Amino acid sequence: MADTVSHKAALVTARIEEIRKASPLAAAQVTLVAASKNQPEIKLREAIASGVRVFGENKVQEAESKWPGLRREFPGLRLHLIGPLQSNKARDAVELFDVIETLDRPSLAETLAKEIARAGKAPELLIQVNTGEEKQKSGIAPKEADNFIAYAIKELKLPVTGLMCVPPVDDIPAPHFALLREIALRHGLSNLSMGMSGDFETAIRFGATEVRIGTALFGERVV
Ligand SMILES: *Cc1c(COP(=O)(O)O)cnc(C)c1O
Repeated sequence: MADTVSHKAALVTARIEEIRKASPLAAAQVTLVAASKNQPEIKLREAIASGVRVFGENKVQEAESKWPGLRREFPGLRLHLIGPLQSNKARDAVELFDVIETLDRPSLAETLAKEIARAGKAPELLIQVNTGEEKQKSGIAPKEADNFIAYAIKELKLPVTGLMCVPPVDDIPAPHFALLREIALRHGLSNLSMGMSGDFETAIRFGATEVRIGTALFGERVV
């Protein structure tokens, strides 16, 4: 029983609430986003049956193959894109996702503005900040973040509601979460997507409104 998705979902959900209530900086509500990359449909169904309603996928194509049927079957589901978005997939992403968390460059912002106008509907957007300034990682550099956020919101009128980050694996995560929070506060942005299986408790202490949990829900990824 201990390794079922339903058992893990109950544990993670309880832990989120426990930390949230004990932390002065914590948000009034923390949403669990199930990071479901590489998970087969049976696991997605187990998570849904356990009450999980928000899922994060890393790739547009994988999401297109996994979710349309399930979304028809379970109308309340919400889908977030949490992996990097190529501009040539922006149209599909605008169609498919309720939230795109990985807006990270001016060219993508411009493409999304066009696709949103064309589709007549807009996903909510989060800007990904590369708080660790890692070369291989996506996200806008912290020193460029203020200008980029202002450009996306004021000039392109994009529906940006918050920020997202993935701290370097070898770093203590707290300073990264604190930095993300500080940038968001400067711009009056209320959503903070930060924290994964290994560091979600710290993220909640720093005000995360959303934690993206894979392994702690589904077990180790097979692929
Ligand atoms: C896979 C992934 C997660 C979940 O990671 P776990 O450590 O398995 O909880 C969160 N965010 C992003 C962007 C991911 O790619």
